[in-house]
Amino acid sequence: MNIILLGPPGAGKGTQARFLVDERGMVQLSTGDMLRAARTSGTEMGNKVAAVMDAGELVTDDIVIGLIREQLETVTSNGFIFDGFPRTLAQADALGDLLSEQGETLDAVIAMEVDDEALVARITARSTCGGCGEVYNDQTKPIPADEKCTNCGASDFKRRADDNEESLKTRLMEYYKKTSPLLGYYYAKGQMHGVNGLGEIESVKADIAAVMDA
Ligand code: ADP
Ligand code: ZN
Repeated sequence: MNIILLGPPGAGKGTQARFLVDERGMVQLSTGDMLRAARTSGTEMGNKVAAVMDAGELVTDDIVIGLIREQLETVTSNGFIFDGFPRTLAQADALGDLLSEQGETLDAVIAMEVDDEALVARITARSTCGGCGEVYNDQTKPIPADEKCTNCGASDFKRRADDNEESLKTRLMEYYKKTSPLLGYYYAKGQMHGVNGLGEIESVKADIAAVMDA
């Protein structure tokens, strides 16, 4: 089963994707993570997109479609979770083509609904473990007092360069201008399922499971 997790920055896509990976053995394809990895390893592409990402703007469709193509051509899985992709109508069309080239289908689009105020609060409180990628939040899931990750024990916590109020404004604007039309696009295709992203992590998880197991 292949699904898209759709929603604005901070909606909790990454948190929920991790559950699906751990519990269902799915493979998460996060273009944000791929782009950050390209930056860390200093590839030409990574250097090219760094400033765009930090400003909160979208990188070009060609680049992210290329990243997804590479994964779909090389990785086999009993289910992909697309996280942070597609983000534009052109990317959505490209994903449809790529999946059918591989003989795969898109089975559900799960839209995580949250309000803007919650997003700003979540994102400015967010940090990630440098060892394993576990996400912490000053309010809802603080870093343990001993400053060791509960998942991997590392004590290297990072805040993302684009998790500041200025970049966040741009990210939200990019979302509403370029990504939110995908809600209508997938609704028209009969693939759209909304879940309330403002609930507790466990209840969001249950709502997603209900969609997937229907
Ligand atoms: P968010 O927390 O905003 O959902 P991501 O980790 O998915 O963040 O993405 C971080 C940044 O990487 C985006 O703001 C954008 O610059 C770039 N990016 C990620 N995925 C895409 C995509 N599909 N199309 C264009 N840019 C992307
Ligand atoms: Zn960790």
